[in-house]
Amino acid sequence: MEHYEEWDVTIPPLPSRSRLYHLEPIGIGTPYVESLTSYIARLAEMHCVTPRNLIVREILPAQSQRVIPTILAYGRFWSGQALTLNSLTPVTKQWVEVLQSFTLCDTLRFLTMLTWSDVIGVLKLVRRNRAWCPACYEEWRQNHHVVYEPLLWALVRVTTCLKHRQPLVSVCPQCHKSLPFLTQITRPGYCTHCGVWLGDAFLLQAMEAPSNEREGLEHQHWVAQVVGELLAGASHLSEPPRKEQIAAMTSLYIEQYAKGNISALARWVKLSRNALWTYNRGTAVPNFDSLLHLCSALSLTPLEFLTAKTLPNQRIPQFVVDNVPVISPGKWRPVSTDDVQRMQSALEGVLAEERDPPPCLIEAAKSIGYSAATLRRHCPDLSKRIVARYRRQWTEEDYHQMKQELENALKSAERVTLSAVAQQFGWDSRGLRKHFPDLCRAVVTHYHERFDYEQVRRRLQDVLTSDEGTPSVDELARQMGYGRNIFRTNFPDLCKQVSERRSAVLRNHHKERMATLCNEIRQAAFHLHRQGTYPSKRQVSKQLSDPQAMRAREAYEAWRLTLEELGYPTDHLKKYI
Ligand SMILES: [Zn+2]
Ligand SMILES: [Zn+2]
Repeated sequence: MEHYEEWDVTIPPLPSRSRLYHLEPIGIGTPYVESLTSYIARLAEMHCVTPRNLIVREILPAQSQRVIPTILAYGRFWSGQALTLNSLTPVTKQWVEVLQSFTLCDTLRFLTMLTWSDVIGVLKLVRRNRAWCPACYEEWRQNHHVVYEPLLWALVRVTTCLKHRQPLVSVCPQCHKSLPFLTQITRPGYCTHCGVWLGDAFLLQAMEAPSNEREGLEHQHWVAQVVGELLAGASHLSEPPRKEQIAAMTSLYIEQYAKGNISALARWVKLSRNALWTYNRGTAVPNFDSLLHLCSALSLTPLEFLTAKTLPNQRIPQFVVDNVPVISPGKWRPVSTDDVQRMQSALEGVLAEERDPPPCLIEAAKSIGYSAATLRRHCPDLSKRIVARYRRQWTEEDYHQMKQELENALKSAERVTLSAVAQQFGWDSRGLRKHFPDLCRAVVTHYHERFDYEQVRRRLQDVLTSDEGTPSVDELARQMGYGRNIFRTNFPDLCKQVSERRSAVLRNHHKERMATLCNEIRQAAFHLHRQGTYPSKRQVSKQLSDPQAMRAREAYEAWRLTLEELGYPTDHLKKYI
């Protein structure tokens, strides 16, 4: 009998099975890392069920008790929780944990912003609806690559495609609706409403790109790049950055860069002083928007800011504390940091566009909605560049023509202001004054001569001596077709007298009117009293020729005193005198 080798019949140790497919997420460690919502949609597709079924039957029941498995809670899920799944909230964390335990993939937190939950604020972080790059979708489909949604596209501040440098699209080109991240039937790459393929270049051509999205393309691309770097970096960190990192970096910048001048640094990075202060104290962390501002102004990337231990090498040689522009209140309202930012990106846009001839600063200012002076004050460098670019266009002939126009203005019977002449060339009067100082002075004098000052004086004196009504100075100026400043700067005393006289007359009028009114109130109250009716405020008002008149303080007092006179208790009534 032959002997055979003995069989080992013990069962080898099997790795534990996962409840759902062990689906590998796409792109971890790259800027194009997948988003959690995209992962859930793909996971559902793998199981041949809709995202709704996967979520309602598997994931939600496994959540902690806080999520009540009722129809209502599910309803709330789609409009509420589903929005935060790519973010860094406690809900995000809960979902990641459940999904990791179901799929046995332990890298799912990199599909969200959870790595940064200690150092980035939750506000203004993720979009409420999907945005996508059609070119990327189409490329993936043609190369038989899995179609998915990168986390990068889910962030509010990322507005262009990192790869194709074109604006992300956020409405379906066919049905013009916006698409939520996760719906009951979401499928990456397709419209949830009409089912159209979102990479369709033909449909996209029909859509007009909004012009304002073309502004600041360079900056938008920078944002996409550094945010991509941040997302890629998340999986390479030994541990997520702590809150103290913000305070440490901020104070390094304040101390070493701005020599302790927190206000100057705040102006430089275009954040409020208070915001910087709270970061420095460790009482707040920046939201994503502010973080990008900070990093853009300091020429470093968010990844560096959130992970570096020392100050990166000096990269902003132009930063000198004393040179930081002072942001002063504008003429009508204070210019906010937002405004300055808007100015900057608009000016950058103006510089970027290739127009022939290039616009002058005034023209640019008009299109932006600020005065040239405001632009000069808040964005001096950009303004100078626009002016310089424009000046290069001037020829001898142009200068000759300018001189001619100034001379014409001097001769013409219709007197015009210097700025009106300047505007014909799209220049400002400062430029004209520089090249033709004497001529400009003459034009200004010529313009001022149009005023017949003697006539103005006579008119003011007439008003003071005659009994004709009591027109205000503004009204007089209007009557004569002049600006009121002509009156007030040239005849301040006369104007003051006219104003005082007018005030006195108006005061008298008021007094007389009130005396009549008080008498009327007294009569009405007595009348009511005689009839046996309590003369309440309402009843008395009804008797007056103007029922609203009772609102005046004097009228109220007259009523109260009359009540007293008639012997009614008035202690509970408010007294004005
Ligand atoms: Zn793309
Ligand atoms: Zn659609």
